[in-house]
Amino acid sequence: MLGCSDSRLAAEIIFDQGLGDLFVVRTAGHVLGSEVLGSVEYATSVLGARLVVLLGHDSCGAVAAARAAVEDGLSVGGFVRDVVERVTPSILAARAAGLTSASDVDEHIRHTVDLLLDRSRRLSEQVEAGEVAVVGLGYQLAEGTARLVTSRGDITEEDETGS
Ligand SMILES: [Zn+2]
Repeated sequence: MLGCSDSRLAAEIIFDQGLGDLFVVRTAGHVLGSEVLGSVEYATSVLGARLVVLLGHDSCGAVAAARAAVEDGLSVGGFVRDVVERVTPSILAARAAGLTSASDVDEHIRHTVDLLLDRSRRLSEQVEAGEVAVVGLGYQLAEGTARLVTSRGDITEEDETGS
């Protein structure tokens, strides 16, 4: 699972999983850097993970900060800027597509899934080969529910008959 670092998005708790169940990578705004890509590739190539879940959420501070940077020119310092700058293309794409700010989180989830497969040749090959699927989920903090925003590859149950 690759998710936002938000304290309310603790993967094992919200998906009711125990120790040994999930391999989790979290960054603010689920932004991708080379260490993140390497961690996801490790999960699918070495640990044999079959499903990569990209987990975004409503009221995401990183998305809000990128929106503030785009719309109001508000900037942040230090390495936080690096996080905001990695979210900003999603906000710009949403505006270019005529979408309102209500769609920013979903757009950022879609963009992150696209970017993950664009940047990781290994992962995109695994998806093409039907070995791995990627889903982008949007988590609603108040409701405690996740919904499917986007997916790549075959996300249906594995056919045990081999047909
Ligand atoms: Zn967040």
